[in-house]
Amino acid sequence: MKQADLVIVGGSAAGIEAAIVAQRHYELDKVVVIRKEDSVMVPCGIPYIFGTLGSIDKNVMPDSLLGDAELIKDEVTSIDRSSQTVTTAGGEAVKYKRLMLASGSQPLRPPIPGMQLENVFAIPKEAEYLRQVQDGLSASSNLVIIGGGFIGVEFADECRKLGINVTVVEMLDHCLMLALDEQFCCTAEDNLRESGVNIITGNGVRALHGQSRVEWVELQDGTRLEADAVIVAIGVSPCTKLALDAGLEIGAQRGIQVDAYMRTSDSQIFAAGDCAETFCYFTRKAVPLRLAAIATREARLATMNLFEDVAPNQGAVGVFSTVVGDTGFCAAGLTEKRARDVGLDVMTAEAAGPDRHPGTMPGASGQKTKLVFERGTGKMLGGQASGGTSTGEIANVMAALISAGSTARDVATFQIGTHPALTASPIAYQIVNAAEHALVRGR
Ligand SMILES: Cc1cc2nc3c(=O)[nH]c(=O)nc-3n(C[C@H](O)[C@H](O)[C@H](O)COP(=O)(O)OP(=O)(O)OC[C@H]3O[C@@H](n4cnc5c(N)ncnc54)[C@H](O)[C@@H]3O)c2cc1C
Repeated sequence: MKQADLVIVGGSAAGIEAAIVAQRHYELDKVVVIRKEDSVMVPCGIPYIFGTLGSIDKNVMPDSLLGDAELIKDEVTSIDRSSQTVTTAGGEAVKYKRLMLASGSQPLRPPIPGMQLENVFAIPKEAEYLRQVQDGLSASSNLVIIGGGFIGVEFADECRKLGINVTVVEMLDHCLMLALDEQFCCTAEDNLRESGVNIITGNGVRALHGQSRVEWVELQDGTRLEADAVIVAIGVSPCTKLALDAGLEIGAQRGIQVDAYMRTSDSQIFAAGDCAETFCYFTRKAVPLRLAAIATREARLATMNLFEDVAPNQGAVGVFSTVVGDTGFCAAGLTEKRARDVGLDVMTAEAAGPDRHPGTMPGASGQKTKLVFERGTGKMLGGQASGGTSTGEIANVMAALISAGSTARDVATFQIGTHPALTASPIAYQIVNAAEHALVRGR
């Protein structure tokens, strides 16, 4: 029987990161990665297959990322905890010293009539399935996307580039509302509408209709939308069957329960990524945040903690970015709405200006920034921004400030560097200026 110091189940964001970190820093005898797929998609790149990239092959993660780890392409069907062995559908058994579950998530399929019709797609991260989506979309003229979260919005923006009529149906008052405050959601919606995407909010889908292939979508208020393709993007559900069958504990958000060191209820088994329970940095409660950025961070933590407790998890701040048309949107931490919903007393401040200086520099874009602080302590709770390509890294700066426990005073006096072609002016640096407003007003 094969034996390994570390066996990793799953070869996507979390599994690959665990294999890389394990080999980079630890002298392990053998690392084995077992994954179901022949090839793995860059998960965050999936929407771009349909427009910007134009091809599934351009969105593949190379197996060479796994270095010297042995890759087994098979499905793990059981874990025997007493003999520390996993068994695959193909009959292979591998004995582990430590096991890492990185089995990810599958898209949710709502229990609405008509989900079984042809050309109704959820989005699992599988190349073969995505080929069917590509074929289905290429023969369609009216696409309805159920769900206006970041995946739905990215699909809308990309699929309209194919010349298809695209309608997004979102149950909440606005698209992207779980990630951004209203003002940013409205800007994103305006951008989508200007590019020709139809957006219906505050309404859900009651049923999908058609003979064999979907023909129209019935909304809860009775509206009828013509549709020859439907994409369902309403969230994901963690893949926990293996863990459940092995008797591991499952958490409140249906992920595999882990402790601060990413250890499951079996001390030899770790879990990371979409399959694992994640808790909020601010509230310490379990949250259904499932992002590649969190998956890789958890995998890094779990791998560092395999043989000794090195790095405890401080919880997920939640860092998110997306792009609609030419405008980037990002958020880190709590939105103002979410902070108020969890009972925090907050103050907010905003700043806007070009992200290069002078604003006539090539590539300059206007950037709007909003920061959220706790009144009293002045602690930074969250930040959001919209603007050009600099927006993605602004989210990361905001996340660093939040997780360092920075206050409005810290951020207002935060030391920055600038260059005309690379950053906003030191006079207009949005994060610093917004914090200064909050500091002065909050005194
Ligand atoms: C369209 C789309 C766009 C996204 N965009 C972003 C983004 O821009 N930014 C961001 O942070 N996040 C994004 N996400 C979320 C991100 O993709 C997930 O959080 C991330 O993929 C989670 O990684 P994971 O390794 O935990 O799980 P997964 O990516 O779900 O991978 C799980 C792996 O485990 C394998 N597996 C499962 N069970 C078994 C078994 N029994 N035996 C063998 N193998 C098994 C699967 O085959 C797969 O290889 C996006 C998701 C989607 C669907």
